[in-house]
Amino acid sequence: MFYQKEFDVIVIGGGHAGTEAAMASARMGMQTLLLTHNIETIGQMSCNPAIGGIGKGHLVKEIDALGGAMALAIDHGGIQFRTLNSSKGPAVRATRAQADRTLYRNAIRNMVEQQENLTLFQQSCDDLIIEQDQVTGVVTQMGLKFKAKAVVLTVGTFLGGTIHIGLENYRGGRAGDPPSIALADRLRALPFRVDRLKTGTPARLDARSLDFSVMQEQAGDYPTPVFSFMGSQAMHPRQIPCYITHTNENTHEIIRSGLDRSPMYTGVIEGVGPRYCPSIEDKITRFADKTSHQIFVEPEGLNSMEVYPNGISTSLPFDVQMALVRSIKGFENAHIVRPGYAIEYDFFDPRDLKQTLETKFINGLFFAGQINGTTGYEEAGAQGLVAGVNAALQAQHKDPFVLRRDQAYMGVLIDDLATMGTKEPYRMFTSRAEYRLLLREDNADIRLTALGREIGLVDDARWAAFNEKLDVVEHELQRLRSQWVHPSHGAVDQLNLKLKNPISREHSLEELIRRPEMTYDELMSIEGIGPGVQNPKAAEQVEIQIKYAGYIARQMDEIAKAQRHENTLLPPDFDYAQISGLSNEVVAKLTDARPETIGKASRISGITPAAISLLLVYLKKHG
Ligand code: FAD
Repeated sequence: MFYQKEFDVIVIGGGHAGTEAAMASARMGMQTLLLTHNIETIGQMSCNPAIGGIGKGHLVKEIDALGGAMALAIDHGGIQFRTLNSSKGPAVRATRAQADRTLYRNAIRNMVEQQENLTLFQQSCDDLIIEQDQVTGVVTQMGLKFKAKAVVLTVGTFLGGTIHIGLENYRGGRAGDPPSIALADRLRALPFRVDRLKTGTPARLDARSLDFSVMQEQAGDYPTPVFSFMGSQAMHPRQIPCYITHTNENTHEIIRSGLDRSPMYTGVIEGVGPRYCPSIEDKITRFADKTSHQIFVEPEGLNSMEVYPNGISTSLPFDVQMALVRSIKGFENAHIVRPGYAIEYDFFDPRDLKQTLETKFINGLFFAGQINGTTGYEEAGAQGLVAGVNAALQAQHKDPFVLRRDQAYMGVLIDDLATMGTKEPYRMFTSRAEYRLLLREDNADIRLTALGREIGLVDDARWAAFNEKLDVVEHELQRLRSQWVHPSHGAVDQLNLKLKNPISREHSLEELIRRPEMTYDELMSIEGIGPGVQNPKAAEQVEIQIKYAGYIARQMDEIAKAQRHENTLLPPDFDYAQISGLSNEVVAKLTDARPETIGKASRISGITPAAISLLLVYLKKHG
C-alpha cells in the first residue's frame, strides 16, 4: 500500500545525521518525512554524553551557522561547558559540553516536532524502491510504501549490527535497539563497496556506589561558554562538576588476564575500531609501558544516577568488566548498571559518494553519518545537514551545495571521505584542515550564515542577529583604526602600565591591540579609550581580526594559489603509469582513487607536491 501523500525528501533514521538532514530539508520548504525505528530515541546519544571538543566543536558551530539544531540543543542540555585550548591560538580553541542525555534528546525532539514541513513516522525501513537507477521511495517493515524525489539514509551503527560482550554476541543496532537486517541485505545487493567497522562503549556505573571524595574534581569554565550563535547562558541548566580517576597496574593485569576471552583479541570481531577512541584493552596493549590511564567520570544527567566512565570502553566479558572497574580508585564498590560492549556494523566506502553525499550509483539516494565510515555525533550531524540540503536542492532541480576545504570543516570532512575513503572510523581533528586559521569556531557564522540564508536554511531571527553582529564588528574596527592615542593623551599613564614598552609616538587603537601583551578587553578597560562593544562575541571577533590579520592574509594568498589548479580536470581513464618520475606507490594510489581534479589528487595521502608538479607538467605538454 502506498501512503497517500508524496514527499519531496525522506530521511531514514532519527539520530544525529537524520535529524539535521530532515530539519534542513524542511527548513528549505521541502515536504519531508523522517522515518525512524522509534520516535522516543530521536536525538539519542548512543555513547558518551558530550558534544564538541577539538575539531568536533568546529563542526557544531558550522552546523549552527547554517541554522542546524545541535548547538542549540546542547545549550539547552549542557551541564558542564569548557573551552579547550583556551591558552592557545583561536584556530584550535574549541568548545565542549557535557550533556544531560535526556535534556539533549528532549531539545532535539522539540525542534523536530516544531519544524514546519516535517512529518514523523515510526517504523523500520526495510527496503528502497529503485526504478532505473533512481530511488523513488521506501518500504517499511509492515509493507507501507512512501514515495519521494530523494531519500537520505542515516541509519548509524544499525546495518547488520552485532553486539559483543566477551565471546557472547547477538544482533542489535545499539544496546536496547534492534538491528537493521533486511535493509542491510538489500543494500549489500546494490553495487556499493561495503565493509565492517566496530566501535565500543564503557560500562555505566551507579553514582551511589562510587566514592567521589577520592577523585579529583573538575569544574566547568566560568563564565560558561555558549555553543550556539543564537544561544545564551540563560538557556543552560544547572552546571555540575565531573571527576577524574585513573586505571592502575592491577587494572591492567586484570585486563591482560581476560584477553583470551576478548572478542577483539580472539578474532571474533573483524571490523576496525576507532584509533582515537580505543577500548581500554586496546590501550594497555598498544601502550604497554604506560602504568595508568586517565578516566573522566562524567554524570549522565541532572536527574540520573548513571555515570559514564570515559576512557574505559570495553568488550571484555562481564566478569572481567566487574573486576577491572572495581580495581580503580573510587570505584571499589561500583555497581555496573549497563555492561560495556562493542558493536560491529556495515559501512559504505564513501569514495562511492559525490561531494553532495549522493551515491554515485543510485540517483537521489544520499548517505550520511556513521554509515559513511565516520564516528561521532558532530561528524554525523554535519553530513546530515549537507545531505539534507542537497536532497532538498535536487528535489527542486537546483544546483548542489558543496563547501570547499577553505570554507568549512564540513568541506574538509566530506572531501576527505569522498576522495580518500577511510579504513577506520574517521573523526575530525583540526590537523585535518590545511586552512585552520580561517576555519575557526568564532567565525563559523561569518563563513557560512550568508550561504545558508541564500538557500533558505537561515531564519529571519538568526539573519537579523548575524547582521547586527557584523555591523557592530565593522563599526568597532573602523573606530579602532581611526582613533589615535598621543603620548600626551590623558589615558597614557594607565595605558603604559599595561604595555611592555611605553608609547613614545602616536598610535592607533588597532596598533595597540596588535601588541602581544595587550587584549581588546584590557584596552577597553582604560578610561577615555573604552568601554568598547558590549557583545562579547563581537568583541572577540574584533580582537581576532586585528591580532591575526597578517596570518589570515597569508592563508588567503595560499588558497588563491591552490585554487588556480584546484579545478584542473583529470581524465577518468588517465594512465598514470605513463608519467615518468612518478613512484609506483603514487601511480597505484592515483589509479585506485581516480581523482576528478588536481585539487582532489593533491589531497590523497602520500601524493606529494612534487608528484602534483609532474602531473601538471605532463598535462600541460599533452593536454
Ligand atoms: P545514529 O545516531 O546511530 O542514528 C541512527 C538512527 O537510525 C537511529 O535513530 C535508528 O533507530 C535509526 N534506524 C536505523 N535503522 C533504521 C531503519 N532500518 N529504519 C528506520 N530507522 C532506522 N562516537 C564517538 O564519537 N565516540 C565514541 O566513543 C563512540 N562510541 C560508540 C559506541 C557505541 C556502542 C555506539 C553504538 C556508537 C558510538 N559512537 C561513538 C558513535 C556515535 O554514536 C555515532 O557516531 C552517532 O550516533 C552517529 O550518528 P548517526 O546519525 O549516523 O546514527
